[in-house]
Amino acid sequence: MIQRRLRVVQWLSTTPAVGVCTLCSREFKVPISALRRTADSQASLQAQFDRHKCEPVDSVLRREPDEEEDEEEDDRKEEDDDDDEGDGYSE
Ligand SMILES: [Zn+2]
Repeated sequence: MIQRRLRVVQWLSTTPAVGVCTLCSREFKVPISALRRTADSQASLQAQFDRHKCEPVDSVLRREPDEEEDEEEDDRKEEDDDDDEGDGYSE
């Protein structure tokens, strides 16, 4: 299992302003109201991070090869023809 981590990519002096998930690269922004206090910012980022669901980039990329399955259907049709021939033979 891959561990996801929160990584701060933008700081306002010592206050974390923007963080990303190391696993799905999703961005989390701290609301301005929370930026005033470092503790609030960290808590806000952490809360957003904990709540989000990772959507692996892999699954999006894998859709492309899936489309090629159309070609494989041609093979299946040939197999159907074989079945028909079998029926005729048994008659
Ligand atoms: Zn994530």
